[in-house]
Amino acid sequence: MREKYLLRCPGCGRSFPDHYTLDCPSGCDALLRTVYAERRLTPRNLPGIFRYKDWLPVEGHLPLDAGPVSYESVGLARELGLSNLTVTFSGYWPERGGGMETCSFKELEAQPTVLRLREKGAGVLQVSSAGNTGRAFCQISGLTGAPVVVVVPTAAAGRLWTTIPTANVCLITVDGDYSDSITFGREVCSLHGIVPEGGAKNVARRDGMGTVVLDGTLAAGRLPDYYFQAVGSGTGGIAAWEAAGRLVADGRFGSRLPELHLSQNLPFVPMVRAWEAGRGVIVPAEDMPDAEASIARVYADVLTNRHPPWGIRGGVRDALAASGGRMYAVANEDARSAGRLFAETEEIDLDPAAAVAVASLARAVEEGFVDPEKRVLLNVTGGGYERAAEDLDRYLVEPFLRVAAGAAFDGNLRQEVAAWLAEQAEVAARA
Ligand SMILES: *Cc1c(COP(=O)(O)O)cnc(C)c1O
Ligand SMILES: [Zn+2]
Repeated sequence: MREKYLLRCPGCGRSFPDHYTLDCPSGCDALLRTVYAERRLTPRNLPGIFRYKDWLPVEGHLPLDAGPVSYESVGLARELGLSNLTVTFSGYWPERGGGMETCSFKELEAQPTVLRLREKGAGVLQVSSAGNTGRAFCQISGLTGAPVVVVVPTAAAGRLWTTIPTANVCLITVDGDYSDSITFGREVCSLHGIVPEGGAKNVARRDGMGTVVLDGTLAAGRLPDYYFQAVGSGTGGIAAWEAAGRLVADGRFGSRLPELHLSQNLPFVPMVRAWEAGRGVIVPAEDMPDAEASIARVYADVLTNRHPPWGIRGGVRDALAASGGRMYAVANEDARSAGRLFAETEEIDLDPAAAVAVASLARAVEEGFVDPEKRVLLNVTGGGYERAAEDLDRYLVEPFLRVAAGAAFDGNLRQEVAAWLAEQAEVAARA
């Protein structure tokens, strides 16, 4: 293999070069994976996640110092009675070197995604997200000048802030719910030159999130025995499993995959239900009854994805099964008190989703699901909002268009976005 990496389909086993490919050319219902020529991980002297460039589907790097930071916990570990607890933190925490200013690990996904797209010359990225993902992509757009089309429900537009000005974001707000924005976002991709970001199917997103396991393992010197994370789509869990598999193949960090311990927030816990029922598909009536009402009641709403890549080949269920993992349903009050415990013992505020993961870890210890002498990697997927609000500027991204739910993407709307796209091409040509 001469390329740095190839894509491989776990469905049919075929390998092929990457053209910003999101799906198997033979049509398999499977998540494509990267296979890197480099079997050993050599950390590079580059900023942030590009330290792990060997195992990212990009050739170059971005000059951004925003990677995961890992350390051995003292306070929380003592409180929980754990001997080997590594915290891998993604967010804003200057004392520990945490430089993700939009405060979540979605920046791990956004960076390699933007760079991969640029290197492949695939077009302008389109993202539909009501929260952390949209904010992360706006931030990386602001930092790199990469154009991005972001479609969100109008009610969620207030969450799209950055810490630097953005000049290349086309923000479209949809007067409807998250599904309406996804539908409209898909329509926008019918415009030549705009490509969907692809979610869990995007190998750059997964390998970017996988740097959490690389960083935590290098910090501890060994692969963890257990990996804890709160999940909405579960993409981070898949990414952790894939990254751990690469480290096993490397041979220097242990030979066993960590057990995945993944958590969701009650009352919206479709993957927990499907897992407990042993089902390969999520059945809405069984696994997420009264979805809308349940979603409205959770503390950590970034965990409320209705279409996680659950049963797909190489998806969350496969990752759990292969690693001998387990799922947790966490109540709001348990997450809140775990968030407080973390703030007291580790001295940083958490994203509600990260608090769900901490609560699942406390439960696992209490119920004996983990051996307290073994190695735990806690993926703290977001935090530092309070610090960021004190230290950093905040810019609200201005909407470019506002559309009704179910609006057709034609006529004026289409022309406006096409004009924006043409302008971006001019800006790029001048640069
Ligand atoms: C998106 C998100 C999650 C869930 O991540 P997935 O792996 O995509 O399910 C957890 N925590 C935070 C802070 C997030 O933004
Ligand atoms: Zn295939």
